[in-house]
Amino acid sequence: MSTRGISILGATGSIGRSTLRVLDQLDGSFRPVALTAHRSVDVLAELVDRYRPRLAVVADADAAMPADPSGGADWMQGREALIEAATHPDAEIVLNALVGAAGLASTIAALRAGKRVALANKESLVCAGPLVRRAEEEGGGELIPVDSEHSAIFQCLQGCAARGEVRKLVLTASGGPFREWSEARLSDVRRADALRHPTWEMGAKITIDSATLANKALEVIEAHHLFGMSYDNIETVVHPQSIIHSMVEFVDGSVLAQMGFPSMEIPILYALTYPDRMRYESRRFDPVAAGDLSFEPVRHAAFPIFGLGVEAGRAGGTAPAVFNAANEVAVAAFLEDRLDFPGIPAAVADALDRWEQTELGSLDDVWHADAWARRVTDHFVRSQALC
Ligand code: NAD
Ligand code: MG
Repeated sequence: MSTRGISILGATGSIGRSTLRVLDQLDGSFRPVALTAHRSVDVLAELVDRYRPRLAVVADADAAMPADPSGGADWMQGREALIEAATHPDAEIVLNALVGAAGLASTIAALRAGKRVALANKESLVCAGPLVRRAEEEGGGELIPVDSEHSAIFQCLQGCAARGEVRKLVLTASGGPFREWSEARLSDVRRADALRHPTWEMGAKITIDSATLANKALEVIEAHHLFGMSYDNIETVVHPQSIIHSMVEFVDGSVLAQMGFPSMEIPILYALTYPDRMRYESRRFDPVAAGDLSFEPVRHAAFPIFGLGVEAGRAGGTAPAVFNAANEVAVAAFLEDRLDFPGIPAAVADALDRWEQTELGSLDDVWHADAWARRVTDHFVRSQALC
């Protein structure tokens, strides 16, 4: 296989670093041509020294750039520079591991430029699923999921001749650190408790989203857009061991599941090598060591943000963008100790209650809803602090 260029957006984060670990093992089959960071300039400089990309991007326009930009790369700064990385002529694949709605413009630009987008940034599809799919069609790009549940479904669907053969998608959820906590106890959650995920090590935002189950709502919406399934045919089940990454039920009653020990390297690898599989060394699966696999229903009353998110998905239009932006603001406030744990779903419910639905025709519609939700949620957080 010849060497394929890859742009890694969010190279300094959890998925970005896992991607670089995957590339380390693939011995030159893929070459990083662009690496980006938000404001961790020193970490980015180290990565540039090591991987020698053509382009290094610091997305935050206010971050101090290195005094002596090194590594033979062109250094650029600002949000527009992210688009340069997403559309770099030497990149065949763009791995989008940005966090939040900040990843949307890059997903669209890369698909319009005909790239394969290996998508970890689920918020792109949540905020603007129909626009992302349109960009893919018009630009000739290709969207491949990195999220482990969606990679599992994508893998189970290989060889499925028509979508009409699928009856149902079953997303699994670990249930997060508070799976068994009573509703009353959830008001005492501390930040450190919420940041301790039982089965996955991830960036702070998605770790909190996993604790509230907002992540699973985002993933239901992501699955709806990726696989063209109606919300009625997407089910979520709690599976605390995170061994079965998701399942597909077919019309003949057969169910396929994709499984393995939790590791993001496998879905990242598949998004890069699809439709092929490449030899890769990682912890080998051992069913005996995996132990018992159990399944439970979602506790809707304890984790109300899950239902709010799925309802926003069903409502469509700009409601999912409002859900996402309100959640981003509420999670940031929780991480800064400005909002308690039950305040996260409360803040999101408040924004969705106030939002007057609009159609999703263009990115401007998304940005309008996003900015509105951020303002309203910020106001909610301030009002809570005064109570
Ligand atoms: P992270 O916080 O560890 O890393 C985020 C990366 O994006 C960093 O490189 C950071 O510098 C950059 N970034 C952050 N904010 C930015 C902004 N406003 N503009 C530009 N760059 C910005 O996050 P992560 O855990 O790697 O998650 C990345 C994405 O992948 C998220 O959408 C998450 O939901 C998804 N995801 C993550 C995992 C996981 O295991 N970590 C699994 C599935 C999906
Ligand atoms: Mg996931």
